[in-house]
Amino acid sequence: MFLIGLALSVWSGTQIAKAQVPKNGNLNQIAILIELQDTKFSNPQSIVDAISGPTASSVSLDNYFKVASAGKVTIQSHFPKVGNNLFIAKLHYTSSDLFEFGTEATGVLNLKSEAFNMVFKAAIEMVKDKFPTNVNFDLNNDNLLDIVSFHLAIKPPNDYGLPSFYGNFPLDGATINGKGILNVVVHTYQETDGIVKADAGQKMLSVMCHELMHAFGIGEYYYFEGLPLWHLALHQWDVMSSGVSMPLLLPSAHLRGRLGWIDIPEITTAGRYTLYPATSGRTNGVAYKILTNADPAGREYIVIEYRRYGGLNAIDGGVLDPWGEHHGLNGSGLVIYKVNTNFEGNNTGVYPRQESEVISKSELIAYRPGLTPTQFDGNNPGEMTGCVIAYKNLERSFFSADVGRTAFTPNTDPYPFLANGTRINDIFISNISSAGETISFDFSRTGVNVNSVSLDKTSISVRLGKGDQKLTPTILPENAAIGSVTWSSSNNSVATVSAEGVVSFVGVGSCTITVTTTEGNKTATCSVTVADPPAFPVIDVADEYPLGVITIPFRVYGVGAEKLTVFKVNGVEATEIKPHQGQPLGYEIEASSADGKIKITTHVIVK
Ligand SMILES: [Zn+2]
Repeated sequence: MFLIGLALSVWSGTQIAKAQVPKNGNLNQIAILIELQDTKFSNPQSIVDAISGPTASSVSLDNYFKVASAGKVTIQSHFPKVGNNLFIAKLHYTSSDLFEFGTEATGVLNLKSEAFNMVFKAAIEMVKDKFPTNVNFDLNNDNLLDIVSFHLAIKPPNDYGLPSFYGNFPLDGATINGKGILNVVVHTYQETDGIVKADAGQKMLSVMCHELMHAFGIGEYYYFEGLPLWHLALHQWDVMSSGVSMPLLLPSAHLRGRLGWIDIPEITTAGRYTLYPATSGRTNGVAYKILTNADPAGREYIVIEYRRYGGLNAIDGGVLDPWGEHHGLNGSGLVIYKVNTNFEGNNTGVYPRQESEVISKSELIAYRPGLTPTQFDGNNPGEMTGCVIAYKNLERSFFSADVGRTAFTPNTDPYPFLANGTRINDIFISNISSAGETISFDFSRTGVNVNSVSLDKTSISVRLGKGDQKLTPTILPENAAIGSVTWSSSNNSVATVSAEGVVSFVGVGSCTITVTTTEGNKTATCSVTVADPPAFPVIDVADEYPLGVITIPFRVYGVGAEKLTVFKVNGVEATEIKPHQGQPLGYEIEASSADGKIKITTHVIVK
């Protein structure tokens, strides 16, 4: 398994306590490029540019922290120079001196920390007199350099991933400008031919920022228990939760708040509220927190922030907002997540080791359609590794009028709930606006009376034998206090309807399905007509399937359908489609008789 950009940290309780990078002020970073005997940077300036950026608005590590900290931190990076030229420490070690084969379970190479120690010490020895003496590299006066990063060109001996990491390396008292070293961020740049590509710096930028966040004292927010089990609490909404290396992702408001970079005021009274984007540079007005009476101790609460999609990633250029979100999320809006302060990332060591624990043991989890406390189960999403719940519908984990997700109440999908599954009944967020310069929403502790109900279909016309269809009611206003409904059919010998609104077609004829709101007795109807079965077999692909389910069954019905017993999807025998999650894909479904004399096909696109 090849994992470029995998970010790991060397991490222990002591090391967290020793994290000494000041959380505000003007910091100066010492950044050292290292080549080994068997490696070479083809364009070392690209690493410098990725870190420092040629201009004040460049997509760079230094500017990232200005944005992420809302101006509380500025970082200026310094590279060893000889005259005006960048100095690269070229060391007589080879890549295999530093890493040894890991296990297949982790898919990464193991670090040989003693060898790293030697390499770093040797590098410091070569560069120690090549930094300006009039720069304050020790803002908090603890006699340690605030930030030291090593950028290592490395040649992996096979397809295993080489982790970047953060750790404490005292380096036997080595110093630069009289200041010692402890916090060390290490970035590995790799190519299989040993030559590091010209855009390596840009490619690694998100991982660099992730590792430096560790040096600020933030732990790990993705879960790693041997591949392929990954639990990504907030995924691309948080640089600490994501394994991707580009584009550049901001930390969540929750973590920015923990570092004191932004304020997260609490909402307690009903009203309309407005948020600015995470990238707005504001320390206030970018996130709110809401407590619930469902957890009187206040250990669990909701955080809401506004994340504005920035367009394509920084490598591709044409960037509207270089600090944009991952292309996989495809949108801007409110991100609503639960904070469970009983846990802290996976630092506590009590992180989820099974899919069924993701909700109950995660500090952070983003609410999105289909996610409920009981919906833990699912199939492995095609060839994608990782557990379903971690990825489930993350591409829809934001709310705005632009995408039709305008409410988050006890009656919506998703609805607010606690780690133990308790439904939160005193948080009503509704009337969420479009995602523009700002985004606004209504908040109240209680809902209102039902005004009306409607159905997504007002008529259904099918041939007998067609599979079930689901009706979905919409109750208005969307912050109605009581969202439950009952269902009935005017003729159960034509069609029946379940308590969930699933209509089954049982006989030829017509009838009416009625939905009635529990509160207010409002009704809506759908007329159903069931005609004779088709005269020939027809392939019936479920056009409605539950959110989060990633297998789509199909069947045949009509006269002679019983003769078609062999099913194929894209030429391979199967009775269901297993699409890649989130990717629209085309499928050819084929049904044929055992003797091959009858064959029918149909084509579907799964989104
Ligand atoms: Zn990490």
